[in-house]
Amino acid sequence: MPKNSSIKCSVQQCRFNDNSEEYCTLDMIKVGTHETNPTVVECTDCQSFKVK
Ligand code: SF4
Repeated sequence: MPKNSSIKCSVQQCRFNDNSEEYCTLDMIKVGTHETNPTVVECTDCQSFKVK
């Protein structure tokens, strides 16, 4: 699939990652949190992730 140049991503274990250039190939993604009160970047998650 072609890369989506609006979504940069370095998660190479995801099946939607364009590994060569580190972009997502989905048209859109959903971002969420696993925390009740997120305060730092580590609190956020790509909820469109699927392992290869
Ligand atoms: S679905 Fe999420 S984790 Fe997977 S490549 Fe796209 S942005 Fe990265």
